[in-house]
Amino acid sequence: MRGVVMHAPGDVRVETRENPRIMLPTDAIIRLSATCVCGSDLWPYRGVEAVKGPSPMGHEYVGIVQEVGSEVKNVKPGQFVIGSFFASDNTCPICRAGYQSSCIHREPVGGLGAQAEYLRVPLADGTLVATPDIPSDDLIPSFLAASDVLGTGWFGAVAAEVGPGKTVAVVGDGAVGLLAVLAAKQLGAERIISMSRHEPRQKLAAHYGATHIVTERGDDGVARIKDLTDGLGAHSVIEAVGTQESMMQAIRATRAGGHVGYVGVAHDVELPGEELFFSHVHLHGGPAPVRRFLPELIDLIGTRQIDPGKVFDLTLPLDQAAEGYRAMDERRAIKTLLNP
Ligand SMILES: [Zn+2]
Repeated sequence: MRGVVMHAPGDVRVETRENPRIMLPTDAIIRLSATCVCGSDLWPYRGVEAVKGPSPMGHEYVGIVQEVGSEVKNVKPGQFVIGSFFASDNTCPICRAGYQSSCIHREPVGGLGAQAEYLRVPLADGTLVATPDIPSDDLIPSFLAASDVLGTGWFGAVAAEVGPGKTVAVVGDGAVGLLAVLAAKQLGAERIISMSRHEPRQKLAAHYGATHIVTERGDDGVARIKDLTDGLGAHSVIEAVGTQESMMQAIRATRAGGHVGYVGVAHDVELPGEELFFSHVHLHGGPAPVRRFLPELIDLIGTRQIDPGKVFDLTLPLDQAAEGYRAMDERRAIKTLLNP
């Protein structure tokens, strides 16, 4: 089969890889209907994370089940399924508490390489959720978004305790930030402030429910949020970048007693203890337990109540994955969908 392999920063190739096989009785093999490039794939692409030799890429996937191991009971060949970036058993105490991305048996799917024609999914019973029917083609991008960016933005909103009557600010205008706006709207936020300085992204934020756009960053961005909230800061702030600046912007834009939901993968972030102590701000976040939200998100997408697939503004055949990475790296695309 064909699959994406990263050899070094900036060096992404589509190569012939061995077809995945059932290795354990709890595995499933799926034929991918669509896959995509993640903002987090750009960290190694830009050399911020080390690339340790040729690495299969990709952790976002939807597709048709081809084959299941002898112990798999919840999904069967022919079904359209969605999974996320950590395989999980969905039965251990941590999963049952809703934190499937910290499952005691979790396995990262990224190492298996979902930017490919076929994928082996470990712990298939716990990881995969089937749609009621085979979806029409126009819904596939939205289901693919549920695999990571929608589920991650949704967790950011839940972690930030978004709810009716609240003012929400979103730091970051990548796919996760934009879908955090969608989640905040669905969860009943009264005002949603998107922090973005890129016009196409501002437009999509408005489409998803942003009521205000703030273009300033850092201290100036915090000052604008305070201006909009009687000097108090937002009730809920979703951090969807992962840098020192974005994290401090999120914490300082939150009012005392408010909540930050941080879902940008942290890179070299150090928090000042004394400032945190006196801020009275709640912090919660981490790798999103997307599996917790999948049944609800699948229903909202299948009934066309939400359209998260709009974040894919570039669609390419899998063979042009290198251009898909480049377009995202240069911010010419928000998110690239790859058709195997
Ligand atoms: Zn578990």
